[in-house]
Amino acid sequence: MADLPVVAIVGRPNVGKSTLMNRILGKRVAIVEEKPGVTRDRKEVEAEWRGRPFLLVDTGGWMAGGSDLDKKVSNQSELAIKDADVVLFVVDAKVGVTEEDAQVANLLRALDRPVHVLANKVDDTSHEALIWELMALGLGEPVPISALHGRGTGDLLDVIVDELPEEEPEPEQSDMEEGEGVISVALVGRPNVGKSTLFNRLIGEDRAVVHDMPGTTRDAVDTVVETEIGPLRFVDTAGMRRKSRIDEGTEYFSMVRALKAVDEADVALLVIDATEGVTHQDQRLAERVDGAGCPIVVLLNKWELLDEDQRKDVLYQLGQRLHFLGDAAVLRISALTGRGVHRLLPALENSIDAYHTRIPTRQVNDVIRRAQQAQPGPHGARVLYATQGASDPPTFTLFANKTIPASYLRYLERQLREAFGLEATPIKMRVRRRGS
Ligand code: GDP
Ligand code: GDP
Repeated sequence: MADLPVVAIVGRPNVGKSTLMNRILGKRVAIVEEKPGVTRDRKEVEAEWRGRPFLLVDTGGWMAGGSDLDKKVSNQSELAIKDADVVLFVVDAKVGVTEEDAQVANLLRALDRPVHVLANKVDDTSHEALIWELMALGLGEPVPISALHGRGTGDLLDVIVDELPEEEPEPEQSDMEEGEGVISVALVGRPNVGKSTLFNRLIGEDRAVVHDMPGTTRDAVDTVVETEIGPLRFVDTAGMRRKSRIDEGTEYFSMVRALKAVDEADVALLVIDATEGVTHQDQRLAERVDGAGCPIVVLLNKWELLDEDQRKDVLYQLGQRLHFLGDAAVLRISALTGRGVHRLLPALENSIDAYHTRIPTRQVNDVIRRAQQAQPGPHGARVLYATQGASDPPTFTLFANKTIPASYLRYLERQLREAFGLEATPIKMRVRRRGS
């Protein structure tokens, strides 16, 4: 229950909060009386709409100043708002905007999460004209409802459940048979760069327990290796463990194969033959892997064959040709001698840690806000609120006022990656348009 998303109902007394709560719950659990301040206690009830459970919190009214009891109630309201994922601000449309409403609105405007102004007691169309006055609250277009008669509440709930953060997937047992929860690694690179040599060394070095399992794509064989950082699933290892391998053939074929593997993978090890430098093919492959949203660890292999000058040259080329990889880890290794290979698991581990990262909503919103201040979205596109709805991989849900162009979304993604050290993991960005 602790992890249910929270919908808070706020508003001054007598606007219809309890009535709305009862309407949403479909039963009478709160006390409804025509007397201000009857519903003193903060009430939390589990509710559900379209199969989506959430916690509905009636904040018990909001009173500016007044008695100690009033203050206590107001404090509770503030607390409820801080915990909430979505806030419903109920206003009595028949009365219009009062001083108290305006004060509540001030607090809510500073809030970085979806807020809906509900123009309550709009019992029929003849009352709808009343709602425009509520625009003055500065919280967007009011939603006309009648809590008493149920008018508009279904549509409202549709909007609310869409705005709730993603449901947590049930924690799963790591299941070797299915490969669930196991980090998938793709070893990619042109033919002859040393992928098989490296792979066999990884198996050997760790004295690893190795399982073969059918790959997700046809004809592919994946290998799950138990390592000190947990099981790793190497994607499409059919060719790698056999002594006499089918020739991988052309660069083209190895590219297709690599990209398929990358689709399945959480992280790619891009193996480069340092004796040949960083070639155009390496660059193309890296671009494609990066474009598929897969984080990359770069391995400069056969490093032991290079002299000082050659090493400098290769590192220079790396900066020139793979600059778009940003902060991706680069390891200089020799798969043949094993030199530097021990650094591979820590590098993967970083990437895996990032994969499991959970970031508090407030921090996510801080980064998004700063990013938007530094560079506002094109054509007035704005993210109003953001949250990390899921991890494995980190998945961010952005609530926006309109469609966010892909280039701007990439910019925001980059900012999130930098702020939270997520360079080494894929992340997912979801955009929801706020309101209807
Ligand atoms: P709260 O103090 O904000 O929880 O308000 P209540 O839910 O107790 O409602 C206050 C009064 O407004 C009650 O008499 C309700 O019957 C009435 N009320 C609530 N919603 C509506 C509505 O949609 N239309 C009308 N006409 N009256 C309503
Ligand atoms: P793959 O086609 O990418 O799987 O490459 P292989 O693992 O078959 O390696 C191709 C050739 O490079 C083989 O002759 C390996 O022995 C050699 N090789 C692989 N890694 C290294 C290394 O670190 N140093 C040296 N000198 N040779 C290597």
